[in-house]
Amino acid sequence: MLRFDDHIAVAVSGGKDSLTLLRVLRKIEKRFPRATLTAVTVDEGIDGYRAEAVRLARESCRELGVNHLIVSFRELFGQTLDEIVSLKKELSPCSYCGVLRRRAIHIAAKEAKANKIATAHNLDDEVQTILLNIFHGDANRIARVEPVLVDPAGRFLQRIKPLCEIPEKEVALYAYLSRTEFQTCPCPYLGTALRNDIREMLNRFEERHPGTKFTIFRSVERLRDSLKAFVTPVELRDCLRCGEPTTGPLCEVCKMLGRVVDCPRI
Ligand code: SF4
Repeated sequence: MLRFDDHIAVAVSGGKDSLTLLRVLRKIEKRFPRATLTAVTVDEGIDGYRAEAVRLARESCRELGVNHLIVSFRELFGQTLDEIVSLKKELSPCSYCGVLRRRAIHIAAKEAKANKIATAHNLDDEVQTILLNIFHGDANRIARVEPVLVDPAGRFLQRIKPLCEIPEKEVALYAYLSRTEFQTCPCPYLGTALRNDIREMLNRFEERHPGTKFTIFRSVERLRDSLKAFVTPVELRDCLRCGEPTTGPLCEVCKMLGRVVDCPRI
């Protein structure tokens, strides 16, 4: 996942996973003089939730001596997530949030001139995503979403998930042992997500049948090459509105924003 001369943009939300990832990468980076880290925090604009996380991210970056970029949905897309969600209810808040946050991190990473984006998805997140994709009948995404995502055409920055084999409990343990202060209050939209039900189901299985999460993760790792053989290759073209790579005339971000707001920055 890592090279000695990488400039890594680390997505730091202020939660235990991302602050742990930042701390671990900072330790590694110190041993490689040509490597650089930039922390990127996205303020989605979630009332009563994001401000504390942004503060914790800022304090950790200061303590670790890491350059920190903060971008917001309002600045990039003209509206906060709360405003977008109150305008339209076609999709779940997490659907808007996920797509827009990915774009925001990509914009910030490019501004920082990073060559890679590291996100703090842990084993639990990865297995939840696999099951979500199965529940949605999206076999293509199971094949495509890997711990290291490389765009052969070079239009997207490489994305890596260094914690993808670490269970959430172990990440939390590391955060406590390293005395990392992280946000503990959950996002107010969390309860609306299907992912939440899947998380609870997986935790029940793991308790009764330890190793379930690893087994699911490993099974998909082994099956992925076979699955890829059945996936139709996607051809990318420029979004008619913002110019970002997409499979259709408009990218997901512009389709979403077209439904809710006129966006000032893209
Ligand atoms: Fe965004 Fe959903 Fe996560 Fe809240 S729970 S930060 S809305 S993805």
